Amino acid sequence: MINQLSKFMGYQTEKEIAISAVIQAAKLCQRVCQDIPLALEKQDKSPVTVADFGSQAIICKALKEVFPDIPIVGEEDAEELRRNESKATLTKITNYVAEIIPSATPANVLDWIDYGNGKVSERFWTLDPIDGTKGFLRQDQYAIALALIENKEVKLGILGCPALSLNDDEKGLIFVAVRGEGSYKMSLTGENLTKLQVISNNDVSDLRFVEGVEASHGNQEKQNAIAKAIGITTDSVRVDSQAKYGIVAAGEAALYLRLPSPKSPNYRENIWDHAGGSIIVEEAGGKVTDMYGKPLDFASDSKMNDNRGVVVSNGLIHDVVIKALNS
Ligand code: AMP
Ligand code: MG
Repeated sequence: MINQLSKFMGYQTEKEIAISAVIQAAKLCQRVCQDIPLALEKQDKSPVTVADFGSQAIICKALKEVFPDIPIVGEEDAEELRRNESKATLTKITNYVAEIIPSATPANVLDWIDYGNGKVSERFWTLDPIDGTKGFLRQDQYAIALALIENKEVKLGILGCPALSLNDDEKGLIFVAVRGEGSYKMSLTGENLTKLQVISNNDVSDLRFVEGVEASHGNQEKQNAIAKAIGITTDSVRVDSQAKYGIVAAGEAALYLRLPSPKSPNYRENIWDHAGGSIIVEEAGGKVTDMYGKPLDFASDSKMNDNRGVVVSNGLIHDVVIKALNS
């Protein structure tokens, strides 16, 4: 009995600390958003902002204090920020972080960011401090994505989506799922907890599908052709970031397709771009695989080297989609 109870009360501390860290990071992102952030360029030419760094600093600090033994595999690192020419940027980041953590200094902000340089192991967090930076820069959708992976399985996932609302009363959402306990959405202040369920409509023509805004992150032409082939008649809804997973989990769409872009056929997906979102859809009754129907591998490397593309669905239509993709 006690064993059974503890099974369902697992991850309570992890969940509470992670939610509170994501809420703090969401505040920083919203604050930076008000000031219209500029894009800085990373070595791989992808954009990054002071909010990406600030969000990673805040979340890593919070997790490190309570779980010093659990490594964090985060998207950002502080290497560039340690250079002399980055001093002004570091000062900006520190000022934003200090609005939330008054004791923040440039030195500890650098250390907090670099705490996110952990390695994939038996038990680790993976963090995208701002998923969909391009959406964030367009004042559109983005997500703060955090997941706890244990024994090769995502056990806890949180998505902070400050710019997303699924009905008129909402101003920003947080999605949370613990393995075996269902998926929920709540407000950015942790209120209005609502259980989520994927859509179970038998009439495929009524179903919606979502895909990314950035054409170069997928294959929109093929994504739309597949959706049509399985009977979806409406145009896609284009949304940045893992907010797409929240939309499928909440039953607002039945399918999210992310097929390899012909322009970057060798691209491999990052674990932090999918781990948090995947458990939120699975715990709401949906299914997540790659385009061949293979489970996503979050536990071998920070890249999903053996997966191609991502298919997220309400579960009911999953096999038909995989068949259409491989026929
Ligand atoms: P989305 O908002 O769905 O377009 O996803 C944003 C994520 O796409 C970023 O976090 C990047 O890591 C990722 N990304 C960048 N380049 C590619 C690419 N060529 N194919 C797929 N994903 C990419
Ligand atoms: Mg990302």
